[in-house]
Amino acid sequence: MSGQIVIVGAGQAGLQIAESLRTEGFDGDVILLGKERHAPYQRPPLSKAWLAGETADDRLTIRGPDFLAAKKIDLRVGVEVERIDVGARKAFLVDGSAFSWTGLALATGARARRPDLPGAELPHVRVLRDFEDAKEISHRLDEAANVVIIGGGFIGLEVAVAARKRGCATVVVEALDRLMARAVTPEISAFFADLHRAHGVELFFGEQVAEISDAGVKTASGALFPADLVVLGVGAVPNDELAVAAGLDVSRGIVVDDCGRTSATDVVAAGDCAVLRRGDGALRRFESVQYAVEGAKAAAAALLGRSKPFSAAPWFWSDQYDVKLQMAGSSENHDALIERRSGDKAFSLFYYRQGELVGVDSVNRPGEHLLARKLLDAHFSPEPALVGDPARDLRLLLR
Ligand code: FAD
Repeated sequence: MSGQIVIVGAGQAGLQIAESLRTEGFDGDVILLGKERHAPYQRPPLSKAWLAGETADDRLTIRGPDFLAAKKIDLRVGVEVERIDVGARKAFLVDGSAFSWTGLALATGARARRPDLPGAELPHVRVLRDFEDAKEISHRLDEAANVVIIGGGFIGLEVAVAARKRGCATVVVEALDRLMARAVTPEISAFFADLHRAHGVELFFGEQVAEISDAGVKTASGALFPADLVVLGVGAVPNDELAVAAGLDVSRGIVVDDCGRTSATDVVAAGDCAVLRRGDGALRRFESVQYAVEGAKAAAAALLGRSKPFSAAPWFWSDQYDVKLQMAGSSENHDALIERRSGDKAFSLFYYRQGELVGVDSVNRPGEHLLARKLLDAHFSPEPALVGDPARDLRLLLR
């Protein structure tokens, strides 16, 4: 199969689309265009092992030049696509050049949200989305005495870990009443609140930030937290502007079906810039490596006219201190919870809805997490009594 496929965005999803086009047997041109100066790299370590100084820079790169050359992936870094013309099948770059395409993939990712707050643009107020952000935060952590993190989500909490490891007094200010509230259950939130407090992080809940200044972070309730570094961890905004301007269906993300197809012919999207329209019509965005990779595989196949929908249960992870949290499925609307505990910091929570297993959160139980993914993908719901008995080997269930 020949032609020229242009991929906008050289991140996790963009690279995977390029690779999967080759796996699917496409032998035409694959052009991968990335705004950043770096070859595609992994973002998760930026707030984890890399920020803790435990991972070298070159370990972040996903695929080296030899691999890209062998797969004939034409990677161009430091180039920004300014506009796409779906009718003319052309992508126009900021430098005035243009690429024609027979198929187009949008993998433009997301950017960190910057709330509209007085002082949010001050130099000591940072976000963490890319390698440059991470380097800047790392440098500032070396100098900082007081760090305030706005937002008690995954990235904010992982930065709190790095700040404590470097001896900074660390405060987390969260608008809601618990940590990681949009992603985990109150039980998991409470476990992590205890963990952070045990490491000396001060947590403040139900606090709206009113203003940031050189003195620190002021909340609506009048509290002032001194800060020489403020990290905003308040979510991400999909980079969907190219699609909006081109007239594609967009709703806080480029709307795609389960094969990554957009509303335009021969145009797919994957990763953080996309929003999935599920079978019931509901829109769902996932910001995860799993979705970037699996959505990209489906999108590459779709560009070649094949239907390979992505249907695996979602999974995600976070590393905080000596704890690895791994989530599979969704605990949303569960009506029963079974705990399977093997230690203070080693347990899994199995969530059921109307007798069906819908999600599992595992703390330092990687084997149970992998098993949970298999159970969820197989739509197999083990008896709650079995699950709750740590002496029972759950692996036997799948034999
Ligand atoms: P990105 O990786 O953001 O790549 C998009 C690329 O497109 C960017 O390089 C961008 O510069 C480029 N681009 C945008 N517009 C243009 C344009 N017009 N022209 C050219 N290039 C353009 N996920 C997990 O599953 N587990 C984790 O523990 C986890 N931790 C994370 C920690 C951090 C600090 C961050 C930031 C993310 C984390 N994630 C994690 C999320 C995960 O990294 C993302 O879901 C994934 O990177 C999305 O891949 P993507 O290719 O869609 O977007």
